[in-house]
Amino acid sequence: MTVRTGALAGRTVPFHAPSIGEAEIAAVVDVLRSGWLTTGPRAKEFERAFAAAVGAPHAVALNSATAALHLALEAAGVGPGDEVVVPTMTFAATAEVVLYLGARPVLADCDEATLNLAPGEIDRLLTPRTRAVIPVHYAGRPCDMDDITARSRAHGLTVIEDAAHCFPCTYRGRPIGAISDFTCFSFYATKTITTGEGGMVTTADEDAATRMRLMSLHGISGDAWKRYTSEGSWFYEVVAPGMKYNLTDIAAALGLVQLGRAEEFRRERTRIASRYSAAFETLSEVRCPEPAGDGEHAWHLYPIRLRLDRLRIGRGPFTAALKAANVGCSVHFIPLHVHPYYRDAHGYRSDQFPNASAAYEELVSLPIYPAMTDADVDYVVEAVRSVVAAHRR
Ligand SMILES: *Cc1c(COP(=O)(O)O)cnc(C)c1O
Repeated sequence: MTVRTGALAGRTVPFHAPSIGEAEIAAVVDVLRSGWLTTGPRAKEFERAFAAAVGAPHAVALNSATAALHLALEAAGVGPGDEVVVPTMTFAATAEVVLYLGARPVLADCDEATLNLAPGEIDRLLTPRTRAVIPVHYAGRPCDMDDITARSRAHGLTVIEDAAHCFPCTYRGRPIGAISDFTCFSFYATKTITTGEGGMVTTADEDAATRMRLMSLHGISGDAWKRYTSEGSWFYEVVAPGMKYNLTDIAAALGLVQLGRAEEFRRERTRIASRYSAAFETLSEVRCPEPAGDGEHAWHLYPIRLRLDRLRIGRGPFTAALKAANVGCSVHFIPLHVHPYYRDAHGYRSDQFPNASAAYEELVSLPIYPAMTDADVDYVVEAVRSVVAAHRR
């Protein structure tokens, strides 16, 4: 299936490659030479710069988005017996954090077209125990936040956005990060900006920000630290059973440089998405991802959907054929209800989530990252076209 002739011949396009330049390397080397490796001045600077970038009053730097989601739920007061609405079309992290707190993730189906949480699910799944909802901006396309916010407010639910795919981005002119009670970002290696591993939570609630800082570092009170400095620098007080979720200065230094390049990266991903969408417009066996409706699209992912009624090949063999053509691809996501844990321990069945279950059979995420050249994109397009041509009904 490899493209054998012309300028595209003999290419390999991995699913992802990070964009790390000399500036990132120099920033990390500076920290290594500084003598201060863990959370310190770079992490504080990263928080300030990130808060400014999304127009949020508070930003807390953490070692993952999973940590951010966990601390946001904890600060929102979610605990044993509570329920939290979580889309099934997401990564494991979005739901597992609910279980960390002894609460129950109540899985919701997605909108058929956007694959974002269908807002009507909030009302359908509501019980007296529902405390919060975690919308995920699938692939970087903002959810319908006005609808989700209105329904959540009506029922007194806390909204915690999982924006692991959605930086930088705006929704109806407002930056993602300045809309809901909490917004959680990921700087995992494959995300839109990276610190290797890392995350950030933003909020306008000062008390919640203070609580998340406290819980991010063993529940050691910063106030106690200040109050008792006369006791000597060894003194601290544990005031809550906290976690160990702080971001190192090594990672933060990397993040500061990446943050400065975030808009440039997004322009590059938008270029690639436009090129794919233009090329696939005439390929009736493939359905392109929905463009952004009321805002921008962060284009973290470019998930196509196969029109299985027009093909003699399923998604599994399709991805294998792309791999044989040296094109990396993935599937976002295997819905949570399909995984053995949620299926067996929570009793979920595929027919409870018709949209997510059907989409799962069709989804193939194509490579999309700034380092891809137009020729790389064209190669992926040719590979998709060849696989489709060989298996057309
Ligand atoms: C990557 C991802 C996360 C987890 O991010 P980490 O920083 O690795 O904890 C959470 N939710 C979604 C939707 C993700 O894709």
